Order: sequence, then structure tokens, then C-alpha cells
Amino acid sequence: MAWVKFLRKPGGNLGKVYQPGSILSLAPTKGLLNEPGQNSCFLNSAVQVLWQLDIFRRSLRGLTGHVCQGDACIFCALKAIFSQFQHSREKALPSDNMRHALAESFKDEQRFQLGFMDDAAECFENILERIHFHLVPNSETDMCTSKSCIAHQKFAMTLYEQVRHLFHCFNR
Ligand SMILES: [Zn+2]
Ligand SMILES: [Zn+2]
Repeated sequence: MAWVKFLRKPGGNLGKVYQPGSILSLAPTKGLLNEPGQNSCFLNSAVQVLWQLDIFRRSLRGLTGHVCQGDACIFCALKAIFSQFQHSREKALPSDNMRHALAESFKDEQRFQLGFMDDAAECFENILERIHFHLVPNSETDMCTSKSCIAHQKFAMTLYEQVRHLFHCFNR
């Protein structure tokens, strides 16, 4: 998968940092709705995985400053959905806003468009990449060293195994 390459940085030691069962504490979560014809399950799993990553979830909550893309702003859409996860009393929430922002943001590339199915892991990778550009617009993703970029700094490869595990769970 493409995002594996993206997350894997030289010098890391997965075996040491990942202790099965210790990092993974599942946050209380809600379902995301996938109405007939929406084909949003790929997006819903990507969002669920991001939500389950404690460090990512907490970091995102603390961040406000970003380069906003309005209707196409993945940062705002993700923040909104996380806040609904936290505060809403509904058991299942619509992911429409996030779906629209994603479609809008990838309009030029003709990817993740409304009604079309896509790959959850690729969607996940692309959401992180967009978050990077919302936070540090002038820096390339593969040499990102910005401390404020949660896509790369906080979301380090130490979490790679955790993510892989989550995708395994959600896709079963
Ligand atoms: Zn925004
Ligand atoms: Zn970055």
C-alpha cells in the first residue's frame, strides 16, 4: 500500500516501540452513516481509524490555525466530525460534510468523487497529506520536519503498526 511507504521513515524501530495491546486503547466511537448510493464506507473507515489514534485525535483538537480551503477544507471537515463524535448523542452520524470536502478537494484529480467507491487506506493517506498542506502549505510532504504538522510529526511511524491493525479490524 502506498501509505506504508509514506509512513515508514528510516531509522525507526517498529519492534521496540510497538507493544501489542498497550498502545491501542479504543476511544468510544459512533458509527458513520453510509446511505445507499453514497459508497462512503472507504471514507468512514479512514475517519474511524484517525479517530482511534489517540495522539492524532488530541493533537487535532488543540489545533486551529490552518490554511482554510472553505468548502474543500479537509481540516475543518475532520475537526467537525471529531467534535460530533465527542458531543453528539446520536449513535450514527452522517459523514456527508467530510465526503463533500474530500470530493471538492480532489476534484481536479477526479478522485474520491461523490457516489464512487474508493480504497480506505488510500483515502487515509490522502487525508493526512491534505492535513499537512493545510498546516504547512510551503513544505513538501516527504521532507516535512514541521513541529506543528500532526500528519508527520505526531503521526509518526510508531503508529504504523497500530494503523495497520485498525485497518485489519475495520475491514474484516
Ligand atoms: Zn478550514
Ligand atoms: Zn507534514
